[in-house]
Amino acid sequence: VRAAVFQGPGQPLAIEQVSDPTPGPGELVLRVRACGICGTDLHMSRLALPRGLVMGHEFAGEIAALGRDAAAHWKLGERVCALPVIGCAACLPCLAGEPQYCAQMRATGLGPVGGAYAEYVLVGAAESLRLPEALSDVQGALIEPLAVGLHALRAAELRPGDDVLVLGAGPVGIAALLWARHLGARRVAVSDPLEPRRALAQRCGAELTLDPGAEEVGAALSRHWSGAPEVILECVGAPGLLQQTFALAPVRGRIVVVGVCLKPDPLETGVALTKDLSLRFVSYYSRGDFAYALAMLEARRLDPSPMVSEVIGLDQLPATFEALHHPTDQCKVIVAP
Ligand SMILES: [Zn+2]
Ligand SMILES: [Zn+2]
Repeated sequence: VRAAVFQGPGQPLAIEQVSDPTPGPGELVLRVRACGICGTDLHMSRLALPRGLVMGHEFAGEIAALGRDAAAHWKLGERVCALPVIGCAACLPCLAGEPQYCAQMRATGLGPVGGAYAEYVLVGAAESLRLPEALSDVQGALIEPLAVGLHALRAAELRPGDDVLVLGAGPVGIAALLWARHLGARRVAVSDPLEPRRALAQRCGAELTLDPGAEEVGAALSRHWSGAPEVILECVGAPGLLQQTFALAPVRGRIVVVGVCLKPDPLETGVALTKDLSLRFVSYYSRGDFAYALAMLEARRLDPSPMVSEVIGLDQLPATFEALHHPTDQCKVIVAP
């Protein structure tokens, strides 16, 4: 089986032969048809991960092998997407569709289970969802990043008619924008220093796009909108940004942090206190978020297709992965092994 294998921090991935995944009880092996390249993988590849790791956690594929207990509900050749976590399928978090909180959870692509930058990937049957005929493999691979955005919007407790500010127009920011509109936001503003990303946000329905490099976001926002946005989503993860959201939010504003900040980020909390702000941190999603995203894609209630900037083969992955460390106009690049 061919896979794009991690060689060491700062080194390009290399295409190598790795051993075949074998499904245990309640597990499936998928032949990977599409896998998104994620910013998390790009960040992680700069860190001291174990050599030999195969990343890739946003995927869809068809069932190529069934473990014991899985054959009753699944058939070879069925197309599925899956949460990139394998749980025990029996504890409370697993039954609640949140296998990431299972004490025995195994993460796919950044943990003990090899990811989908490969021809085959191992998944849990309990974490898998059938893809309807109407959905493409690429759409199947977009369900994971869409679920990240949906989970963030749910944490924001968006009320229809709220104004929303999204900081960062990477894939997570764009997913948040799509869901904010879907869930009834009045207006969505998106801030990003890169022009192609702002253009993409506009194509995805942002009423207003802002360049934080040209003008302070609060000043720019108040020139266009009279009130402050009730919901602010931090989808960047840069030090200082969370502090800015305190100033941007109105009284009882709701702030959700989705961006992963890998550096210490000191906070002055006085303003947050006097404004009675709510602050939430989120990661992952539930199986229910996957199911909802899938249903809305099938019903054509949400169109994430502008997010896909390119579909490449596995052989192109190492070079493309390196190039994405300095993104220009790309959003989500999909690998079709
Ligand atoms: Zn991801
Ligand atoms: Zn469990």
